[in-house]
Amino acid sequence: MDEARIAALIVAAGHGVRMGEGPPKQYRLLAGEPVLRRTLRTFLAHPAIHRIQVVIDPAHGGLYEATVGDLGLPQPVAGGASRRESVARGLEALAAGPAAPGWVMVHDAARPLVSSAVIERVATALRFAPAVVPVVPVFDTVARVAAGRITELVPREAMVRVQTPQGFDFQLLRRAHREVAGEATDDASLVRALGVEVATVPGDPANLKLTTPEDFAFAERLLAGRPQGPRFRTGLGYDVHAFAEGRPLVLCNVTIPHERGLAGHSDADVALHALTDAILATVGADDIGSHFPPSDPRWRDADSRHFLARALELLHRAGGQLEHVDLTLVCERPRIGPLRARLRRRLAQLLGLPESRISLKATTTEGLGFTGRGEGMAAWAVVTARFPAEEG
Ligand code: MG
Repeated sequence: MDEARIAALIVAAGHGVRMGEGPPKQYRLLAGEPVLRRTLRTFLAHPAIHRIQVVIDPAHGGLYEATVGDLGLPQPVAGGASRRESVARGLEALAAGPAAPGWVMVHDAARPLVSSAVIERVATALRFAPAVVPVVPVFDTVARVAAGRITELVPREAMVRVQTPQGFDFQLLRRAHREVAGEATDDASLVRALGVEVATVPGDPANLKLTTPEDFAFAERLLAGRPQGPRFRTGLGYDVHAFAEGRPLVLCNVTIPHERGLAGHSDADVALHALTDAILATVGADDIGSHFPPSDPRWRDADSRHFLARALELLHRAGGQLEHVDLTLVCERPRIGPLRARLRRRLAQLLGLPESRISLKATTTEGLGFTGRGEGMAAWAVVTARFPAEEG
């Protein structure tokens, strides 16, 4: 299974009638950040999720734009009269996209405390099961009541609470929505109605569905107890290109006067390629070749600045900021020393970083190997990226 084919469908079309006055709960602030934004950030940052579709009430279009319009997501889909209909519309939007996903996770926007660990467990279980839900045990005594009196105690050992995100084989869930009649509070029950077994993975007691104002207060206390301060991730990138006659030499997006350039499908900017891979690594977003395949004619002689910009966009969408860049160029010639200040200045412009946070080093290999023989150049990049405090 290619985990990168999992889409997330975020259901944010509700009105939250139990929240009382004020904006819908998915747009309210939780610990200073709108609920929907926190939910989306967690999915955006998860490497198993390759695509996100949000379903909203079209009456909330302005709120949506103001809340998460900067996250670079596809246009939200208009929800229906019920949660079920909203999910169905979201599924059809995903199916109509450039390539239908293999799997989908359906998640309630009103569960902003979902952790990357729960997403990971659902993604992993989808390798072995067509339908997966996270569940948490019930520790309270559970009873049936009628007219305020207990009529029956229910054995709690057999009970769990079912959360989201719920993961499915994409076409299976589409079929369930098409073929199963009636209302449903969740998607797993529709799939069960087709006779398909639904697997469970451990959920997270903190993965609350915010329903009442009291839930907001409780969620804020949970967030306050989480580790504060940023997290750091390190990414490594490495690239090699061969020298060739009749090509310009482009390093760090600067064209260098030199008798030979580097061969490659794009402008063969070995420095930016290593740097792009290192940035992609901090968000687990595969490598430059998977985003910009050399087989694609669009990237012939392409300016590698676009590759770098795409990696930075993915980093920012995951909530990350570049902290530091360390780049090493490996060649006998040209001599990098006299070029260093220019190259570093250009990198600072492209990355939006002060030059003091960019290290640009060069080394020869003492005549050894392909770089020593002057057959090509190599570049190594290490980047450090800062992310907000762990989401759980
Ligand atoms: Mg390359």
